[in-house]
Amino acid sequence: MKIATKFIHAGTEPDPSTGAIMTPIYQTSTYVQEAPGKNKGYEYARSQNPTRKALEEALAIIENGKFGLAFGSGVAATDAVIKLLQPGDEVIAGNDMYGGTYRLFTKIFAKFGIKFLYIDMHDAANVKKHMTSKTRLIWVETPTNPLMNICDIAAISALAKTQKALVCVDNTFASPYLQNPLDLGADIVMHSSTKYLGGHSDVIQGGLIMNDPALREQLYFIQKSCGAVPGPMDCFLVLRGIKTLHVRMRQHCENGAIIANWLREHAKVGKVYWPGFTDHPGHDIAKKQMRDFGGMLSFTLRDDSVENARRLLSSTKLFALAESLGGVESLINHPASMTHASIPSEERLKYGLTDSLIRLSVGIEDAGDLIDDLKQAIG
Ligand SMILES: *Cc1c(COP(=O)(O)O)cnc(C)c1O
Repeated sequence: MKIATKFIHAGTEPDPSTGAIMTPIYQTSTYVQEAPGKNKGYEYARSQNPTRKALEEALAIIENGKFGLAFGSGVAATDAVIKLLQPGDEVIAGNDMYGGTYRLFTKIFAKFGIKFLYIDMHDAANVKKHMTSKTRLIWVETPTNPLMNICDIAAISALAKTQKALVCVDNTFASPYLQNPLDLGADIVMHSSTKYLGGHSDVIQGGLIMNDPALREQLYFIQKSCGAVPGPMDCFLVLRGIKTLHVRMRQHCENGAIIANWLREHAKVGKVYWPGFTDHPGHDIAKKQMRDFGGMLSFTLRDDSVENARRLLSSTKLFALAESLGGVESLINHPASMTHASIPSEERLKYGLTDSLIRLSVGIEDAGDLIDDLKQAIG
């Protein structure tokens, strides 16, 4: 089945009690039992909810996986993955990943005796160099946030298999429209459904997708035991978002390419970070593992003072100054003071995230209008 058909029909069956074409919002905490222990597969809504179940099936289908699990946020989904580990286990992660993931690892889980290594992952050989007999998980984010570096999912997954370490890919930036990590050998896909899956900047949610039934059981046990489940209304919103993901992504990609190329030609713009450029260091891998290059990009100004960047950030009218990404509306963001402020500046500078870097989440408005807005703001 082709992506367009799959995304529209994923997980939703007509409701058995009424025939409603869209899965209803089952706003209930518990389910009446016919006799003690005799129920219809639903006992208590932290463990089971029909709206969440429809969404979890949809998540599995759109990522070419067998099982999906939904969480109250993207970081709650990441939290569940780390809870698979034991004290003493080692995790290899990228050194330029989402700031909230870095904060969760360093400020919450490191104190429980899990060791995190942050490395340059753009060369898979570097991952091999850092693997030890204690490596249990490799956390991959690609494209990375906000420098748009590319990691080779297939190569890293093959390395991990040599010693049974799990590979989890944060697929938030690419979305399942552009990239399906399970097909490339990863064990778990993680999503901040808040972004492209929801697509309308109106919900916070996360998801995990996997193929191995034993892994699904462990993660389901963590989901119901720790309780970071999303509410049924939020599940409904993400289920609805998924139905138009392919249409939105096509436009995000088209607008992203137009704006990346326009910025690159602009006399006042310094470096543009976007994996679609043939001279981007990860372009060949991106071409191999992604269907297109997405609507996320970052850039610096030629005069790369912080003041100049700040002036631009406050001058756009269509691009709203805000954290987050992946919604239909365009956003502009200053990673150093916003999304990545939880990473100490020495750490950020080490991998090239300067205080003058500007990140765009290119929306699906008219590309000409977006360029006019950037034109007046850059001046
Ligand atoms: C937003 C984001 C997260 C965290 O997700 P929340 O839904 O905000 O908890 C994780 N990874 C990436 C790449 C993100 O953009």
